[in-house]
Formats: sequence, C-alpha cells, structure tokens
Amino acid sequence: MNRDPVPLVASALRHYINGAWETGATTGVSLNPSDLDEPVGEYVRADVRQTDTAVEAAHAAFREWSLGSARRRADALDAIGSEVLARRAELARLLAREVGKTLPEALTEATHAGQTFKLCAADALRAAAEPGGSARAGVEVDVTREPLGVVGLIAPWSAPLAIAAAKIGAALAHGNCVVFKPAESTPGCAVALASIISRAGLPAGVFNLVMGSGRQVGARIAAHPLTAAISFTGSAETGTRVLQAAAARQARVQLEMGGKNPFVVLADADLDGAVEAALTGAYGSAGQRGTAAARLIVERAVFEPFVDALQAKLAKLSIDHALKHGTDMGPVANATQLQRNLDYVRIGQQEGAHLLHGGRQLERATRGYFFEPALFIGESEHRIAREEIFGPLAVVLRADDYDHALHLANDTAYGLCAGICTRALERARHFRRHVHAGLVTINLPTTAVEYHAPGGGRKASAYGVTDAAFWTAVKTAYVAG
Ligand code: NAD
Repeated sequence: MNRDPVPLVASALRHYINGAWETGATTGVSLNPSDLDEPVGEYVRADVRQTDTAVEAAHAAFREWSLGSARRRADALDAIGSEVLARRAELARLLAREVGKTLPEALTEATHAGQTFKLCAADALRAAAEPGGSARAGVEVDVTREPLGVVGLIAPWSAPLAIAAAKIGAALAHGNCVVFKPAESTPGCAVALASIISRAGLPAGVFNLVMGSGRQVGARIAAHPLTAAISFTGSAETGTRVLQAAAARQARVQLEMGGKNPFVVLADADLDGAVEAALTGAYGSAGQRGTAAARLIVERAVFEPFVDALQAKLAKLSIDHALKHGTDMGPVANATQLQRNLDYVRIGQQEGAHLLHGGRQLERATRGYFFEPALFIGESEHRIAREEIFGPLAVVLRADDYDHALHLANDTAYGLCAGICTRALERARHFRRHVHAGLVTINLPTTAVEYHAPGGGRKASAYGVTDAAFWTAVKTAYVAG
C-alpha cells in the first residue's frame, strides 16, 4: 500500500477535482476547538465556477464508471476501507483535533468509517437484478436498478468520517459519481479521506471533493442541472433549502436532519443501567450527535433517584483537551455551538426550567470551547425541551405513567430516534410500535446504532428514502420473441 502521509497541519488542504489536487478561490483556517492556538491547517474554499468544474468532471466520468464492472467498484471500496482501518489511529487523532471528540470516541468513528467502506464493497457485488415475472406467456419481465449519475453529498461537521463514509461508499458502490462537500469546519478529515480515496484506482472525476461555504458551494451543488441527486445531512433549516433547490428542478433528494430525541426511563428499569445509558446518549461526543437524547422522560416513582445519580455522574466527568489522557468530554466543536449552548442555558432559566448542573463556559490550560455539561428539570413546552440544541445539555421531564411518557416522547416536531429503559417486555414492544421515530433503542443509549442497518427518521428529522433504493433508479424491461 502507498504510504503517503495523510495531509496534516503543515499541508495546505486542497480540493480534489477530476483526479488532481486543486487550489481554491479563497482560503480559510480549520481550528482545533481544544486549543485555538494550534490550528489544524489552512484549507481552500471554492467559488461557484470551481464547484461547476467538479460537477462537470463527475458527469464526464459517469459513463465509464457506471458501465464498469461491480468487481472494479468493490475492489476500490475495499481498498479504501482497508486503508481507513489501517490508518484509523492517525485519522482518529485528526478527528479529535478538528471536532474535539475524545480519542476513544474518535477511534470508534474512524473504525466505523473503514468498516462502512468494506460493507459498501460487499453491497457493490450483490446482484443488481431483481427477480421479475410476467403474467403473459412468452414475455420476460426484467427489473434492474441503474446508477443515477452525479450525486451531490453535503455533510455536517458532527461525524465527518462516518457520515462521509456512508454517503461516499453507497454512492460509489451503486455506480454513481460523487461531488462531496464537507462542513466548513472539518476540511482536515475530508482531505484525509480524499487522500485515501485518491489511491484506490478510481478513474479521474469519479470522486471529487469541493470545500467552501454552504451558501455558495453547497447551494450550487444542490441547484446544478447535472446533479441527479443530493444526499444531505445537517440541520432542518438547511435541509429545507436543499429540498427547495432540488424540487425546483425535480432532482432526487434525501435529507437526514435534526432531532430532539426522547429517552424514557420507566419505574421498573434497571436504574444504574438507565442512568449510564442516559449519560452516554445525552452527553457522549459532547451531545453533538444526531442521535443524542436530550429529552429525558422519567417516570415519577424513580424521578429523584434518577436525577440524583445522573447529576453525580456529570459532576465526576473530566472536561478538557480532547487528546489529554483521562478526558471524558472534549470541548464543543466550534464557537457558534458554544454560544448556542450558553444562549439555551439562559433561555431555559428565563422560561423557569430548573438548572441542576453545569451550563457554564470553562477555562482550561489551553484556549478552547469548553462547556460544563448542563442538566435541567423542565416541562415539555420549554424551548430547551423542544428545540434541537446539539450540545451537552439535557432536560428531564416528569411522566405520570407509561402512557404519559409515550405521549411526551411523541410530543416533538422531530422523529429521528427514541429510547426506552424498562424490564417489561410488553411496554418495550408497545413503545417500539407506537413511538414516532425512525430508530428505536430498548435498554440501550439512543446513540447505540450500527453502521450496517438503515438510518431512518420521520417528521422534521428526515425526508426521502434513506435505504439503498435512493442510489439507483428502477428500470423494468418487457422482452418478447
Ligand atoms: P448545517 O445544516 O449548518 O450544515 C450542513 C451542511 O450543509 C454543511 O456542509 C453546510 O456547509 C451545508 N450548507 C449550508 N447552507 C447550505 C445551503 N444553502 N445549501 C446547501 N448546503 C448548505 O448543519 P451542521 O451545523 O453542519 O450540523 C449539525 C446538524 O446536523 C444538526 O442539526 C444535527 O441534528 C444534524 N445531523 C443529523 C444527523 C442525522 O443522521 N439525521 C447526523 C448528524 C448530524
């Protein structure tokens, strides 16, 4: 295997367009949220013209790539997965520096990204043809799925390796060509992945990386007439804009958006397990995960012991530099997120919610976006219990009984995931059936989802199909004679 180093701090982080590393119209700097005095690197930003170049390169590469063999696609994806896995420690360190995840969290994500590419390699090999049949004698019906063309992939900063791997791997496995736009604050992770992909033997133009602002580069990818489909993960506000751009020209679109995920604890639950699952689900990766559960719904009989135990665990967390040994929670990822967390603490207090723990900016040896995880007791109608904050801030709501807990779980505009802790099989089954969410966890943190199973999401959390069908179009052929 070629052992070129993944570009790190000293390197300029460049676009990858039509098989070559390109400079950009302007530059920006990627910061380390644990230490603002140690930037991750300078990266280039595209304008509309350069974005068009990438889309056109992907369009030109589509014919050869889509008509090529599944074996070729599988081999390329397998090679990418192997190198991601072989270099996961290096990638994890970069991810920890760029997003502020602790090293164990970052290593989990890097591993997940490598395994996702391997899974996509296997998917590429699975038979594309589906069995068909005709009601008429002498006629064959043949149903096949064909690649779409150029797909625009627009990603958030929260899981820059895992989300990129899922989108890029699936798009390439199904024979599409890619224009990938990462979040502005994670160019290092994007360039590291592109560097690995550049060594997998793909024809020039099959994979393109373009960095820059959402308003310019992201909006142009979504609106470009040659982009056949857009897969977007990010906030509901941006997702709505992407949907409007896609709808205006009838392009296929898939949106994975925000959440305000409920986590229910019933009186019969294993309380220690429930507290641990709430801690992981609400505060893991500093609460900056689409699947984080920030709306904790606890049955009255165990409310006080649950809250006391969770508060005690929060008090013991070490919040510090993401790369420091013993850190339980790194900084939040950027200045906007820090300010958003502080604003919501103020909003919660103004609305009358009771702040039990945290909610302050913290100072550490390095200059970074450190925030003391916050725990509130509140009401369902409080903004902190309804609006997505995307930080280490959770609200506990009292439920009178199971029916009330289920009502509270569904009383949100979002529907990404939901969890319940209970020993009662009947309750668990009822919750699984009746909660309005695309992902359900039982006696597990809401974040305990796996890469090989479909994502999901309902209501304001998702739009369009999220499974393999998104990446191809059906063709049904009727053959006689
Ligand atoms: P964001 O919506 O601000 O940005 C997402 C991406 O869209 C970025 O690459 C951004 O540059 C781009 N963008 C911005 N404006 C655009 C426009 N007008 N047209 C096209 N693209 C544009 O989200 P974020 O702050 O990066 O990420 C946090 C959000 O992501 C949260 O809401 C979180 O819930 C969501 N998220 C969802 C999931 C899921 O699986 N559903 C997973 C992770 C994160």
